[in-house]
Amino acid sequence: MSAETLQFQAETKRLLDLVVNSIYTNKEIFLRELISNASDACDKLHFESLTNREILNGDENFEIFVVPDKDSKTVTVSDNGIGMTREEVIENIGTIAKSGTRAFLEKLKENEGKVDEELIGQFGVGFYAAFIVAEKVEIITKKAGENSAVKWTSEGAGEYTLEEAEKDSRGTTIVLHLKPEFCGGEEVDFTNTYELESLVKKYSDYIRYPIKMNFETEDKDKNKVIEVRTVNSMQPLWTRNKNDIKPEEYEEFFKHQFHEWEKPLEFFHLKAEGTFEYTALLCVPKHAAYNLYYSDYEPGLQLYSRHVFIMNKCKDFLPDYLRFIKGLVDSPDLPLNISREILQQSAQVKKIGKALEKNILNRFAKILKNERDKYEEFWQEYGKSLKIGVYNNAYDEKAKDDLKDLLLFPTSKGGKPATLAEYVERMPEGQTKIYTASGKDSATIEQMPQMEILKDKGFEVIYLTDPIDEFALEVLQKYNDKEIQSISREDFETDDEESKKAKAEVEELAKSQEDLLKDVKEAIGGEISEVRLTSRLKSGAVCLATGKTGPSLNMEKTFAAMNNNFFKATRILELNPNHELFKKLSGLHALGKDKPEFKEFCGLLYTQALLIEGIMPDNPVDLANKIAALMAKI
Ligand code: ADP
Ligand code: MG
Repeated sequence: MSAETLQFQAETKRLLDLVVNSIYTNKEIFLRELISNASDACDKLHFESLTNREILNGDENFEIFVVPDKDSKTVTVSDNGIGMTREEVIENIGTIAKSGTRAFLEKLKENEGKVDEELIGQFGVGFYAAFIVAEKVEIITKKAGENSAVKWTSEGAGEYTLEEAEKDSRGTTIVLHLKPEFCGGEEVDFTNTYELESLVKKYSDYIRYPIKMNFETEDKDKNKVIEVRTVNSMQPLWTRNKNDIKPEEYEEFFKHQFHEWEKPLEFFHLKAEGTFEYTALLCVPKHAAYNLYYSDYEPGLQLYSRHVFIMNKCKDFLPDYLRFIKGLVDSPDLPLNISREILQQSAQVKKIGKALEKNILNRFAKILKNERDKYEEFWQEYGKSLKIGVYNNAYDEKAKDDLKDLLLFPTSKGGKPATLAEYVERMPEGQTKIYTASGKDSATIEQMPQMEILKDKGFEVIYLTDPIDEFALEVLQKYNDKEIQSISREDFETDDEESKKAKAEVEELAKSQEDLLKDVKEAIGGEISEVRLTSRLKSGAVCLATGKTGPSLNMEKTFAAMNNNFFKATRILELNPNHELFKKLSGLHALGKDKPEFKEFCGLLYTQALLIEGIMPDNPVDLANKIAALMAKI
């Protein structure tokens, strides 16, 4: 039969026009598409051979060849898979049957026919991707079990020809006649063996069939010889049986795959079958990336579908607080040609993501229970992330619940950091709340004047030294039935009789000191909302308390560090009526509230309260001068 010229289906023609005439950002993906088709063809034949052994005709070793040729300016991809009949070529290549490609065209319609780089970059276009780099494509194919072969040729412009061909063995050979720019022109040179080799490794490493290439080397007599090498590692580690994989193999894999230089702190090999099927290989790197919490860090998992690499850094599986997890998900239920937008909305992806998150948190809980040292090492690196998780899930009770038992904090007991459960477990009788104090480090908090009374009573205090701590606990509010209470908030009180009595006495006293308190406030000026007497101090003279709600002083500092000066803590100056300085203050007040001594005294009291909280006074020189003047009087 002589050559016959046929027209592409109208839609196909349109698509081809687009591919040929567009600036395709990711030109190299043509190879991934062709190899993926070759692999599918091998799969199909393998599947058929399960019930029809004869069809293999003795040739059971599936393989894919990628052969660049500088002289003819071609790249040839061939396989010994199932091949196609003449009708199948017309059906599969001349017509668009694929859902991904259809989706592409629909999207294009929405876009009113405008093709921008981004649009076309989002979709793989399967076989047609060949026309990104080729000016002419030939397919020579022979269906397994048939005698005749067929040759399809097209320049991608509306029509193709079909003719009978000679082919010894079954399978498909695709010859790309490269556009000049791709063989020594301005673009990547696809006739370069090493270039192609690296592309195969990048995109198709885990294809289950060997992808072979010819490499020119020299034998011992320095003669040029061609050596055939398999370029891909072939077996996806994640498809193997967990029990057959050695820990070193996992470690090597994570290092290679995710560019880690140490073995991971923990890894996960998760498989699910049933309504939605996936395999995931995840790891917690030994050390947090230096930029983990910065915007230039790109979180996300690699996505595979049937072992074919689809995309890097897919963010839609895991919540942001688990951004430190590296890994991949392979799911046959996800189509190969999928856009990031479609992925985001995919219920499948959400389900897989939820399952992964649950698995990860369960594992963390297990480590906390059984391998405390390891958990603390983990916490050191990633504790902040889990706290961010609590904060980000402010309105999700279930999520907060899953995270609350994974938190660790240093406490006034010293030693190892404690979980909230451990803290509650060792609460002495009479203590009803979980107390927290925040500051820049444990040593600073320990010396806060408010700590004294709690120490005396034997009540343990959780130290919040990481800026995120207060935000996370604020969101948590309670641990089981125990309220979480900052010792710096105005509503702080311990519930024992002794404290209640002391508080009542101070309140009584305050009534007789209303004028003094008012005048102190006036002397200090606008920054403070109130001056009070307090029973929470023992040997300290002053402290700052903040409002019952709203930002604390440390939160205010955090906001300020982010250039947000809008959120301010309510500042309440608290005075210890039992302190020597209070008597001095009363004495000065009696001499006249407008006297400079009284004003200066008030100013210094406030400055002290600020310093205790680690806040620099606005004018340190002024403070130094005042201290110097006082010292001169001694
Ligand atoms: P998809 O692979 O998503 O189906 P493609 O555009 O990549 O879409 O390929 C279209 C069809 O062409 C395939 O479904 C297959 O039937 C056929 N095909 C492509 N390449 C080969 C090949 N190497 N061997 C056999 N059939 C092939
Ligand atoms: Mg394909």
